[in-house]
Amino acid sequence: MTEKSKRRCSFCGRTENEAGMLISGMSGYICTSCVEQAHEILREENLLAKSDFELKELPKPQEIKAFLDNYVIGQDEAKRVLAVSVYNHYKRLMQHDSGDDVEIEKSNIIMVGSTGTGKTLLARTIARLLKVPFTIVDATVLTEAGYVGEDIESLLTRLLQAADYDVEAAERGIVFIDEIDKIARKGDNPSITRDVSGEGVQQGLLKLLEGSVVNVPPQGGRKHPEQKMIPVNTRNILFICGGAFDGIEKKIAQRLNTHVVGYNSVQNNMNIDKNDLMKYVLPQDLRSFGLIPEIVGRLPILTFLKPLDRTALRNILTEPKNSIIKQYIKLMEMDGITLTFDDDALEYIVDKALEYKLGARGLRSIVESIMMDKMFEMPSTEKKSCSITKEYADAQFSKCTPEGLS
Ligand code: ADP
Repeated sequence: MTEKSKRRCSFCGRTENEAGMLISGMSGYICTSCVEQAHEILREENLLAKSDFELKELPKPQEIKAFLDNYVIGQDEAKRVLAVSVYNHYKRLMQHDSGDDVEIEKSNIIMVGSTGTGKTLLARTIARLLKVPFTIVDATVLTEAGYVGEDIESLLTRLLQAADYDVEAAERGIVFIDEIDKIARKGDNPSITRDVSGEGVQQGLLKLLEGSVVNVPPQGGRKHPEQKMIPVNTRNILFICGGAFDGIEKKIAQRLNTHVVGYNSVQNNMNIDKNDLMKYVLPQDLRSFGLIPEIVGRLPILTFLKPLDRTALRNILTEPKNSIIKQYIKLMEMDGITLTFDDDALEYIVDKALEYKLGARGLRSIVESIMMDKMFEMPSTEKKSCSITKEYADAQFSKCTPEGLS
């Protein structure tokens, strides 16, 4: 007998010839497939080494707000509401660990505000501060199980992936559901054709928001039907929803009991503008918009974001820690070049963003089109400084078609 055929895996008993590589221990061997099985058992039992997602110290609401201020311009109301609710949410988790008997209920959040006003940015920044797994899901891709689109459980798959499959961490994570308004019921009457991407999804989502154990396909839904499901408890997952709710101002105005014929008359009658109307948003407006009452009930914290005005856009360009302008300056600095923007060049960028109604999202594409030639040429020249004037910005921007921007 050769040495190889004598050694056996101490777990499955196969010889080295049969099992391939054996790892030797003090008084035995283990084959690679037994190592894999052991790993699988640990994963199922949740005993694998924990990832980095430890909630060590919980920042106070004011600290959370101050952190958000570094990255998000304005939106003070939303920041305060978010800071308090996130703080309470995680306090609740800590209390849960201590086995106290006054149970604090979970409060998911809904943010209403036009697109590009910072809803995602707020949620993302909070997740970054708390170092918890975080995922963004677009509600528009979700459909009821069995229909074209993604199953609702897929949002937990993404959270699991963000948590490196550390189930415990995922169960404390944050899911940001964007465009929640797009799954509003279409029209007031339940339709005769199935509403697979509207009310059906809301019903499915409800299960997650309420807190239940959901079997999650680790690789995502339908492509791997053979995979083993991972049970995930959504009880402590914080759901933050966001939506533009286009037209909700009309519902608010109706509720405020004004007789509106056109939008302008709201402004005239009440002497308040669109920005102010959003301030009065209440849960019942979400219901009139088409969210089912149960969903609205599960999103008890409602806050709004203001449309970004000129000053806000100007600040977004330069103020946040990783503002667009700072990023370009950094990029040039890496080539030893000092990049500066004239004030009126910055104003020009804001003008264009406003003109094309691109909001904050448009700022980046405008700066990009202005900077492209410089970014291409400068690294190969001897020049050590580069200044962007309004004239240069205008010439560069005019070269590209507005259609190219989105
Ligand atoms: P929303 O989710 O409301 O549609 P986002 O948060 O995705 O909008 O914003 C899009 C981009 O615009 C962000 O990545 C960020 O660069 C910029 N932005 C939007 N609002 C703000 C803000 N209040 N402060 C700083 N940057 C912002």
